Amino acid sequence: MADTFDIVVIGGGPGGYNCAIRAGQLGLNVACVESGPTLGGTCLNVGCIPSKALLHASELYETAGSHMAELGIKTKGVELDLAQMMKAKTETVDGLTKGIAFLFKKNKVTHITGRGRIVSAGQVEVTDGKGKKTTLTTKNIVIATGSEVTPCPGIEIDEERIVSSTGALALNAVPKTMVVIGAGVIGLELGSVWRRLGAKVHVVEFLPRILPGADGELAKQAQRIFKKQGFTFQLGTKVTGIEKLKSKLKLNLEPAAGGDATTMDADVVLVAIGRRPVTAGLGLDEVGVKTDERGFIQTDHWKTDVPGVWAIGDCTTGLMLAHKAEEEAVACAEAIAGKAAHVNYDVIPGVVYTSPEIAWVGRTEEELKEAGIAYKKGAFPFAANSRARANHQTDGFIKVLADATTDEILGVHMMGAQVSEMIGEAALAMEFKAASEDIARTCHAHPTLSEALRQAAMGVEGWTMQM
Ligand code: FAD
Ligand code: NAD
Repeated sequence: MADTFDIVVIGGGPGGYNCAIRAGQLGLNVACVESGPTLGGTCLNVGCIPSKALLHASELYETAGSHMAELGIKTKGVELDLAQMMKAKTETVDGLTKGIAFLFKKNKVTHITGRGRIVSAGQVEVTDGKGKKTTLTTKNIVIATGSEVTPCPGIEIDEERIVSSTGALALNAVPKTMVVIGAGVIGLELGSVWRRLGAKVHVVEFLPRILPGADGELAKQAQRIFKKQGFTFQLGTKVTGIEKLKSKLKLNLEPAAGGDATTMDADVVLVAIGRRPVTAGLGLDEVGVKTDERGFIQTDHWKTDVPGVWAIGDCTTGLMLAHKAEEEAVACAEAIAGKAAHVNYDVIPGVVYTSPEIAWVGRTEEELKEAGIAYKKGAFPFAANSRARANHQTDGFIKVLADATTDEILGVHMMGAQVSEMIGEAALAMEFKAASEDIARTCHAHPTLSEALRQAAMGVEGWTMQM
């Protein structure tokens, strides 16, 4: 193996592996150092992919057991085989992580297994599993070390009864009761998995609302639907400690605003209060790479303030999403190769893969109001969309927000079946700076769920017409 490179990428998640592959495509001599046994990072191993595999399987289980009869399909003896469901998830993960190893070979990326540490701009020391150290010399270093679970003060995660998302993706039995701490994306997605498989799920959230970051109207309606599904919510509350008894967990709770403490029992607790950057032991202080007060690496166009050291993905400021990491990865590799590189941070979609799905791109109504931007709004319920009616999937709506003067689309917010696949149309329109009229006057196939987006766009000028 050569030990002199154009780029050494530290971390093999969506940020790191996409950066390395793009650099390889551009003819650069690139190595990717990953400490884990497989490539793919959080996303492929313990994040996006295993969670979506379980969300899909658990939704089919719930549908087969409870919702098929209304469509005239009688099911008998639907049974859960949790071990097989987990096996199918693991097979998907294995296949995808091997796929990245294949792409590395195809694009001439050197994959190095070991823990990377920056010794100086231009030198990365790698320690392998046996403690053997190698020093790589490189023109550029890209830090893509990602994120890890934020611990909850006073609560020790054991990944068996008190779990993070990683443990919640691998439980070997369905708990009777699960308390989820944090009504964010992970809490609602993995809470949905275990609720569908039979757990009674109670969500404790510090803020007075669920899904901070999502449009308020969307979050409110979503909470109503989740309640109907059997979730219970306790907002404005924090968990201050958990006593581990032999037969159960005893949680201590307090109102966020202060007040009397209460207790609650659970079989399993999922801690999902956010993620924090992974930068410990990387040598950042020694080489002078600056982080903010929460430990995120500060960058300007993916450059840190040390020449030749770049950073992308979850370990930097901004949204902690795989596709944000991927955008930065490509831009960073292209910038290093001397090309014009750009990421449009205003058009990064967000999706919550619950049922119904929730998706958005651009600004929320709250953000537009706070910025003093005058906007027009069109909305359309799936209850009035013929395909949603035919499919018996009528929960949710689509809302289009457009500039009051120019009609440029400023935000699109969706809740409904398959909206994760529909948000791309809105993102593409926004990339092209489309007006709401552009979507309103684009012919959409009938009957499709995406007609609801067109109807919502028509609603901006008040000419919604479909039923
Ligand atoms: P990571 O994927 O965290 O990768 C960093 C890699 O660096 C890791 O493999 C780590 O082992 C390695 N590393 C760290 N330090 C070193 C070192 N010193 N030397 C060598 N290697 C090192 N996002 C979405 O967009 N959609 C989703 O549906 C979604 N679902 C999620 C579900 C869950 C349960 C979780 C936890 C996250 C989910 N995310 C999702 C977020 C997504 O996983 C992250 O945003 C994404 O993985 C970030 O990519 P990254 O490359 O920056 O970091
Ligand atoms: P999050 O930031 O989405 O939600 C955390 C929630 O916990 C917030 O609502 C917060 O107010 C609450 N909270 C914080 N401290 C609390 C406390 N002490 N007690 C009670 N509630 C508390 O974080 P997450 O759900 O852990 O997800 C982490 C990251 O992973 C997110 O940035 C997310 O973007 C990413 N992720 C994305 C997807 C997706 O795109 N579908 C799925 C899973 C995870």
